Amino acid sequence: MPEAKLDHAVAKLTDGSEVRIPWWRIGSGRAGETLLVIAAQHGNEVQGCESIRRFKELCERELVAGEVRLVPFANLPAVRHRRSHINLGSEQAYGDDEGHNMNRTWPGVADGNDTERVSYALHEAVVEGCTRCLDLHSWSRFTATATLAREEGLSREMALVAGIRFIQWRPATPNTTGATMIGALFNNSGRGSITIELAPQWVIREKEVTLGLRAASNLAKLFGMIEGEIEQLDGPYVQFGRDSAEEAARKHELTAPCSGLFVEAGLETSDHVSEGQRLGHIIRDDTLEIVEIVSPADGWLWQYGCFRADCDVALPPQHPYAAEGDTLAAVMEL
Ligand SMILES: [Zn+2]
Repeated sequence: MPEAKLDHAVAKLTDGSEVRIPWWRIGSGRAGETLLVIAAQHGNEVQGCESIRRFKELCERELVAGEVRLVPFANLPAVRHRRSHINLGSEQAYGDDEGHNMNRTWPGVADGNDTERVSYALHEAVVEGCTRCLDLHSWSRFTATATLAREEGLSREMALVAGIRFIQWRPATPNTTGATMIGALFNNSGRGSITIELAPQWVIREKEVTLGLRAASNLAKLFGMIEGEIEQLDGPYVQFGRDSAEEAARKHELTAPCSGLFVEAGLETSDHVSEGQRLGHIIRDDTLEIVEIVSPADGWLWQYGCFRADCDVALPPQHPYAAEGDTLAAVMEL
C-alpha cells in the first residue's frame, strides 16, 4: 500500500528566519497524473485542511496510479496569525492585502515579501511538478459553498464531478508574466484546476469537510488515480456565470423591505426552497410588527442571512439588524 511521505517546503523570510511548510507526497509507483490538493492559502479558511488529512488516509489505502501532493497549511504563517493574510490586523478587509494575498502571488518571488517567498518555496518544492490542482478555500457563511471553475476544458470537467451544488463559471484571466492565482497558473498552462469555497471561514464543520473530501476523491477517480464510481450529488448542479445577464435573470435577490431584526427560518445556504416558502421574518424596529420574508421562486439558496460588506472579517457586518435594502437572501433558479 502506498505510504505518505512527509516533506517540507522551506521559505527564507525577509528577517533571515525560515518557515517550513509541511506537505505529504503519496506515490502509487505507477504512471499517472500528479494531483495537488492545497488548502489555507488564506489563514482563516481552514475547512479544507481536515479534508486533506482525510484524503491522505484514503490515498494511502486506494491510490492506484499517479501521485498526490497534499498541502494542508499552504499559508502557515497566516494560519498562525489566525487571519487571511499575515499583514492584516483586527477587522481589516481582505483587500487591504498590500501584496500579501497569497492567491495573487503565484508562482511566488524568491526575494519578494514574506508571502511571495512562501509561494515561491511551495512552487519550487511542490506545485511546479503537478499536473492537476484542487485549491480549497472558504468564504463567509452567507454565500453557499461553491466550485469556481472555467467553463471550458479540464477545469469544466473537474467542476462537473466535484459534487458541489453551486458552480460559478469564471472567465479565463489573461496570460501575463505577472503574479496570478494558483488556479490560473494551472489552467493557463493546460493543466486543470478548480477552486472550492467551503463555507464558512473560521470554523471546521463535518458537512463541509466531507464535501471537500468527496470532491478530492471524485477528482482522483476522474483521473484514474483511485478506482470506483464518482459519487455525484443528489439533484442537479446549479451553474451560472459571474455577473452575467443569464445569472441575473435566474437570481432572485431579497432585500430588507424595512429596517429591523432579521430572524432566519432555520435554513442554510445551498438548501432547496420553494416559491412562497418562509425564509424568515423581520421584527420591525419602529412598530415591532412582523414582516414575513418568503421565497419568490423555486431554487437553491445562493445567499442567506443578513449581511454587509466585510462580513468575512468583522462581526458587525454579520449582525442580523437589517437596514432597509440590506441583503437577506438570494435564490438561484435552475
Ligand atoms: Zn480564500
